[in-house]
Amino acid sequence: MEMPVKSIVVVMTSDPTSIRNGQVGDYYLVNGVLYVRVYTGMDNPNAVYGTAIHEIVEALLLINKGTPLEAVDQYDAYYYKHGRCPRCNAIKSEPGDDEHAPYHTEHQAATMIEELFTTLLNEEKSNKPNRA
Ligand SMILES: [Zn+2]
Repeated sequence: MEMPVKSIVVVMTSDPTSIRNGQVGDYYLVNGVLYVRVYTGMDNPNAVYGTAIHEIVEALLLINKGTPLEAVDQYDAYYYKHGRCPRCNAIKSEPGDDEHAPYHTEHQAATMIEELFTTLLNEEKSNKPNRA
């Protein structure tokens, strides 16, 4: 079986305007290459790594399910422009938190994995003994 994603390119950028729809992470698929973009301007570097994991998990789950990523883009673009869900007008901290987001289920799963991952990163750091 042919894999829909042949390679994954993760770009970390300090330029927030290079990430679409005012978010800290973004992804798009071009000719079998999944491009993930992550904003590095967050306070905790672990949050940057966590966001990278989040975006990869969310995108691969959507592609696996057959959800067009363009549906995600359209929803996010509307949300960014109007600041609310196009269907129920709710205002959430993240567009994906709204149940009407076409990627809501995948966003929730990606958030759980991100939280587990960043917890592990934070624990590893705080438990590290002071060795030269
Ligand atoms: Zn809604």
